[in-house]
Amino acid sequence: MNDNLHQLRCFGCGTRVVGTEARPDFRCSACGDLFEVEYPGWGQRQGHDRPNAGALKWLWRERRCSSEALDHSGVWRFRELLPILENFGNAVTLCEGNTPLYHLPRASKALGIDQLFAKHQGMNPTGSFKDTGMTTALSVARERGFEWVACASTGNTSAAMAAYAARAGMRSLVVIPEGKIAWGKLAQAMDYGAVTCQVNTDFDGCVRVLTTVVKEANIYLLNSVNPYRLEGQKTPAFEIAEAFDWNVPDHLIVPGGNLANSSALAKGFREMKELGLVARLPKISVIQAEGANPLVRSLAASNGATLEPVVAHTRATAIRIGNPASWRKAARAIQETGGWCLDVSEAEIAIAKAELGAEGLGCEPASAVTLAGLKKLRAQGNVRSGDTVVLLLTGHTLKDADYTIDFHRGTLLKDEEKAGLEEKIEGLRRNAQVVDATPEAVLAAVKGKG
Ligand SMILES: *Cc1c(COP(=O)(O)O)cnc(C)c1O
Repeated sequence: MNDNLHQLRCFGCGTRVVGTEARPDFRCSACGDLFEVEYPGWGQRQGHDRPNAGALKWLWRERRCSSEALDHSGVWRFRELLPILENFGNAVTLCEGNTPLYHLPRASKALGIDQLFAKHQGMNPTGSFKDTGMTTALSVARERGFEWVACASTGNTSAAMAAYAARAGMRSLVVIPEGKIAWGKLAQAMDYGAVTCQVNTDFDGCVRVLTTVVKEANIYLLNSVNPYRLEGQKTPAFEIAEAFDWNVPDHLIVPGGNLANSSALAKGFREMKELGLVARLPKISVIQAEGANPLVRSLAASNGATLEPVVAHTRATAIRIGNPASWRKAARAIQETGGWCLDVSEAEIAIAKAELGAEGLGCEPASAVTLAGLKKLRAQGNVRSGDTVVLLLTGHTLKDADYTIDFHRGTLLKDEEKAGLEEKIEGLRRNAQVVDATPEAVLAAVKGKG
């Protein structure tokens, strides 16, 4: 069976190429911009390639009870909207996706929004949403006969790539900025057997090095410039719509780093709307850290016409990116859905992360920008009390345990970063206490916290 019904279309100039003919760096040879996967059959009204909305909803739900391996994946369960392989038998899966959607009762109450939820993509096999994109892009690499795959990474991409490559029996090369990624993530890449190069530069420097490497050797690039990553990363949009019985939420709030994920989710909602699965798009808002806010600056300075790269600084390492590749795609996602783009401070991130933790939902600091951003959107009146809001939590709390411990020890934030928020921060801190080895001492600690 030929399941492959796609082509690649340049986001900048509209040039179309066959999937196998894209350059190794996934840049358009005409204008240098990135590609998007496009499915021409869906445009034909009566076309026999065009999926049927009602039948799909039924089929996707049925698959949750199926005994077939591919159906257990929350990505490949939606494979009718992922016709990117010659044969779905080539898919490499770790049962990614099907992640939980949690209600946030405390944050709901504090913000006066009833319908506030977190879609926890940290509950994927390697602990971040990167798995949903890796299963699709790495499967393409395997089907096309590559032995080696590679990525530059702030950590989570490399963890996901290394795991999926290992499952497929392929080799992987990781290029990461020395000393600037969380240890949990580096440990994963090593555990899964990747060749790991720590390079004395930042993420943006790693990308530059790797772009040349993949042109010289026959290595398949798995950074998010690879359009097949975004195809997998669009599937949480399907899960969210399904969870709300195909009524989409009013707002979806997503962290912004290299800015692929926000645009992937927008693509998922856009395709559902085109196929008649949902009636509208949620407003997609992208939140960046103040020290790594090139998209915020670009939208403010030129309405997204040109990027304003920065030298990025934030302890939310997953979004420490100053020159994001997919900024044009993200700008379109925000503009076409009517969302916003904001930045939040280091203290706001730390507070939001501790508040999510106190709801029993640990996450990475990069994920917590969503709650910090929501507070601002609510204060600005852009999110109303009757709105349904979904925060996208991108990574698992254990990815960066050092961050959490530093926060609770009180060593995470500098005094000037805390300014005006000291009380709030103290109220959230939970020091691990050293006490005597007696029941009395432990009971005294419990009473002290009453
Ligand atoms: C990769 C990543 C992000 C940023 O996603 P982009 O697609 O690069 O914008 C945010 N949070 C976590 C935990 C990540 O791993």
